[in-house]
Amino acid sequence: MKHREEALALDRADPLAPLRDQFALAPDTIYLDGNSLGVPPKAAAARAQQVIGAEWGEGLIRSWNAAGWFALPRRLGNKLAPLIGAAEDEVVVTDTISINLFKVLSAALRLQDARDPGRRVIVSERSNFPSDLYIAQGLIEQLDRGYELRLVDDPAELPEAIGSDTAVAMITHVNYRTGYMHDMAALTQLIHQSGALALWDLAHSAGAVPVDLNGVAADYAVGCTYKYLNGGPGSPAFVWVPKRHQDAFSQPLSGWWGHRAPFQMDPVYQPGPGIGRYLCGTQPMVSMALVECGLDVFLQTGMHEIRRKSLALTDLFIDLVESRCAGHALHLVTPRAHTQRGSHVSFAHPHGYEVMQALIARNVIGDYREPHVLRFGFTPLYLRYVDVWDAVETLRDVLESESWRAPEFAARGAVT
Ligand SMILES: *Cc1c(COP(=O)(O)O)cnc(C)c1O
Repeated sequence: MKHREEALALDRADPLAPLRDQFALAPDTIYLDGNSLGVPPKAAAARAQQVIGAEWGEGLIRSWNAAGWFALPRRLGNKLAPLIGAAEDEVVVTDTISINLFKVLSAALRLQDARDPGRRVIVSERSNFPSDLYIAQGLIEQLDRGYELRLVDDPAELPEAIGSDTAVAMITHVNYRTGYMHDMAALTQLIHQSGALALWDLAHSAGAVPVDLNGVAADYAVGCTYKYLNGGPGSPAFVWVPKRHQDAFSQPLSGWWGHRAPFQMDPVYQPGPGIGRYLCGTQPMVSMALVECGLDVFLQTGMHEIRRKSLALTDLFIDLVESRCAGHALHLVTPRAHTQRGSHVSFAHPHGYEVMQALIARNVIGDYREPHVLRFGFTPLYLRYVDVWDAVETLRDVLESESWRAPEFAARGAVT
C-alpha cells in the first residue's frame, strides 16, 4: 500500500465497519491494545447504571433471583461458548485466569492419576505468561507429590518434551509476547498420543481467532473476558471443561457456589453436577454484568469474518512498518505465516520502551513487553484500515524525528 486513500477504500468495503459505532472510542486515539484491555461497548455504561440503580438499588437482595444474578456465570458461559467451540453447559464465567487454572490443573492431575498413575510432569513453555507458570509451581508445591514443571524454550521442542511421563501439557494458544499461535488440533493430537491431557489457555485467542475446543477434543481450557471480549477492566474470566470430564473430580476450591445445593447450608461439601462445580464463591455482579455487553457484539458477526479482517490488518501493519519504517532497527518478532499468527504483532527495537511511550504521547496506544518488544493488538470489531496507516505514519515520525529520546519517555510506570 502506497497511499492513505487505499486504506480508506478498504474501510468502505469492510463488512465489519458498522460495528465500530457500538464502541465508546476516544476521538483522535488509535487504540492498538485491545489484546490487553478491550474498549468499552457503548451499551456498558447504561448496563452499569441499570445494575447499580434498578437491580442493586431497588431490587436489593431480591435481584439474586429476580435479576438473574445467581445464574449469570452459567448464562454468560453459554453465551461465550460458541466463540470457542464449546457446547451448552460447558463454560462458566468466573474468577480470574490464574484461579481457574489452579482449578483445572488440579482436576487434570487427579484425572490423570486415576487413569495412568505415576505421570508426574507438567509440560509448558518458558515463554508462557508468567502467572500460568507461577500457578503450576504453587500447585506442585502444595501437592508435594513429586510433580515437576518441564519448560521448553521453543515450540518445536514440544514433541520431544511430551512423553510417557507427562500428565498434562499446559499450553497458551497464542503467545502474549510474540503473537505466535500453536496449531491447536495438531498439538492436542500429539499430547493425546503421549497419553497426556491438553490444557489450553485462550487469553489471547477468545474473540481473536477461531477456536474449536470440542472439535480438537481438548481436555480443559481457561481464558479471560477483558482482552478481546471487551468485558471491562478486571472482568471475570472463564473456564471450560467438556462434559466427559466434568463429573470425574471436583476441583479443590470447594466453595459454596460449586456445592450441589448451596442454600441447604450442608456442613459437608458435595460438588454439584456438571460445570457448576467450577464455581467457588460470590461473584462481582457489577463487573460480570458488563461482560454481556461485549459478548453481544460478537453475536452480530462470526469468528471467521473477524479472523479474515484480523489477518488483513496485521498483514497490512507488517507490510507498512517494513516499507515505511525501513532502516530503523525494527525487527519482526511475530510469525509471518497466517497459521502461526494470532491477532497482535510485535516488533523488537533496542529502545522499545521509549518508542512506545513516544507513540502513546501521540495517542497511538500499544504496549511494551520485556525485552525490547513493542506490541500492537488488532481488534477487527473497532479498528479501521486507516488506523493502521495512521499508526505506522506516527511510528515513522517518532523514529525519524527521534522524539522518543526525550527524557520523559524513559520513566517507567508500575504497569507497562
Ligand atoms: C492475560 C493473561 C493472563 C492473566 O491472568 P489473570 O489471572 O486473569 O490476571 C493469564 N495468562 C495469560 C496467557 C494471559 O495472557
